[in-house]
Amino acid sequence: MPSSRESQSDPRSQAARKTEQRASQSLPGPAFSSHRPRRLRRTAGIRRMVRETQLTVEHLIYPLFVEEGISEARPIDSMPGVSRLSPAIAAEKAAHAHELGIPSVLLFGIPEHKDARGSESFAADGVVQQAVRSIKERVPEIVVITDVCLCEYSDHGHCGVLNRDREPHPNASLPNDYLLNDETLAVLQQIALSHAGAGAEIVAPSGMIDGMVGAIRSTLDQHGFTECSIMSYAIKYASAFYGPFREAADGAPRFGDRRTHQMDPGNAREAVREAELDRREGADFLMVKPALAYLDVLYRIKTEIPELPLVAYNVSGEFSMLRAAGDAGYLDAAAAQWEVLTAIRRAGADLIITYAAPEIAEMLLTHG
Ligand SMILES: [Zn+2]
Repeated sequence: MPSSRESQSDPRSQAARKTEQRASQSLPGPAFSSHRPRRLRRTAGIRRMVRETQLTVEHLIYPLFVEEGISEARPIDSMPGVSRLSPAIAAEKAAHAHELGIPSVLLFGIPEHKDARGSESFAADGVVQQAVRSIKERVPEIVVITDVCLCEYSDHGHCGVLNRDREPHPNASLPNDYLLNDETLAVLQQIALSHAGAGAEIVAPSGMIDGMVGAIRSTLDQHGFTECSIMSYAIKYASAFYGPFREAADGAPRFGDRRTHQMDPGNAREAVREAELDRREGADFLMVKPALAYLDVLYRIKTEIPELPLVAYNVSGEFSMLRAAGDAGYLDAAAAQWEVLTAIRRAGADLIITYAAPEIAEMLLTHG
């Protein structure tokens, strides 16, 4: 009938029909009342029962900076609440962390003397070696992890041996300031060996040098440290979020940057390749660094290689920007920090390295 065809093709009557349909859908009825997700958010108790992602003190790793030749803690301006410590004070901090239930600490060293090959990094009485011994004496139960790299120990601030220092002469096919791969591996082996000898249970190579995990594994095994684990910084991006750390650890490169070894922020498929190589070389833990701007990478690595514990480094820039915003009154820094760490866990991290570990541990003790 002409009249009904007219009404079907009339856009105004079609719109009226849709409005009518939506109105009938939003009416409370049996189907609607059987789906009320708010029921599971009604009380704090119910919310606790159904929380999918837990953040507990066991997930935290507390990083400490130990400096040679100081007797008092030296606050780091760019990281509010964080200080450089002597080995003895580091042992006190580790004992406090242990009392709070934090299972492990990660040590970075700042030596008094630096040279082209970073030789203080593997000195038997180096600052990290001293700190490992003091911590193990004071609180043997805490797990000690050590950073294995050259950037805090070399006078140029780079993570390994530069071509200009190659013996007997530089490789003519490479620029003078190029970070040499295989020559650096030999130094990383010496550092790892000396940390394991001092009592570290886990060594953590952080330079993104090809083959670093395999090289360290073989040297540890040859010297009887078969039970010393390797936590590999498998995926470390060339990131602006490391800014405050460079003041903290005095490890800024004096010239150039780290883009020939750290990863490009645009890459995620390459992260899987890096992680897979480190797994095959014998890594016991895999790490993604930084964490907050790379949650998709954490998720991807946990999905692709679920069998290895995955560590996220909630880096200095992520920490300091929350502290700064909190100090300015823009947000509640502690609540935001908890939310960030929970997001990092939700993305797939089993463990999180964070400068906020003691504050978060106290918060968890109080609020659960
Ligand atoms: Zn480095």
